[in-house]
Amino acid sequence: MSENTSRREGGLGGVGSAQPDVVSGVWTCCHNIDPLAEGCVFGPHCDAELQCARCGGWVPLAKWSAERCVAHPGRAERSRWGGALWSCCGAAGLEGTRWAYRGGAEWIERRVAGLSDAEWQRRRRGARPPTGCRDGRHEWQLPPGRLEPRCDACGSPWDESGTRGKAGCGVCGAAQRLCTQCWAVLPEATFLRGGCRFHPGSFCESRTIRFATKQRSGGALVRIGTADADVKCSE
Ligand SMILES: [Zn+2]
Ligand SMILES: [Zn+2]
Ligand SMILES: [Zn+2]
Ligand SMILES: [Zn+2]
Ligand SMILES: [Zn+2]
Repeated sequence: MSENTSRREGGLGGVGSAQPDVVSGVWTCCHNIDPLAEGCVFGPHCDAELQCARCGGWVPLAKWSAERCVAHPGRAERSRWGGALWSCCGAAGLEGTRWAYRGGAEWIERRVAGLSDAEWQRRRRGARPPTGCRDGRHEWQLPPGRLEPRCDACGSPWDESGTRGKAGCGVCGAAQRLCTQCWAVLPEATFLRGGCRFHPGSFCESRTIRFATKQRSGGALVRIGTADADVKCSE
């Protein structure tokens, strides 16, 4: 999907743009402008992959440490001509970065294919593979507004062993699982029942968007598993 900054979107600007109908910050998946908005994808909980905060890509845990992360460490800023310029290296454009618009339906296709985002983008016709001026390791971080996950049974900060989806709480041993989509720690049975809501995209805080767009995109919920019975939380 190509970036179309000329049509409705105000381009990038952040604090500088003072027009009353332009707000700053938008989810790249659903165009929602509220960083704390409920997720736009609904489906099973999952702990088999993580989203990287640097490149914005989703990566199965089995590929997490082996795959190189290509990304811009800086922020995209509005150029004098209305496009996007990266503060780190001066490169132009959002395609192939964590701030490119990509909808929930595409995210589900990628999950079904069992690929990391980078693999998916490389394989997909017309998609730009991840771009950036720095090549490093994927790094995860909690989505906006999420508190540090804690065991639902004993209240301890969640132990990393839980992110592997095997053991329960590393402190009290309760059979709990951390969902790496919605970041809830849930008893095993609740986890398996599903009911996860999350954003597959990134919250791009320096992107401005016209208010009209917010009204238009009230947020159609994308459901995992209605069209493809095969969507599983695994590699
Ligand atoms: Zn979840
Ligand atoms: Zn850069
Ligand atoms: Zn990454
Ligand atoms: Zn515990
Ligand atoms: Zn979203």
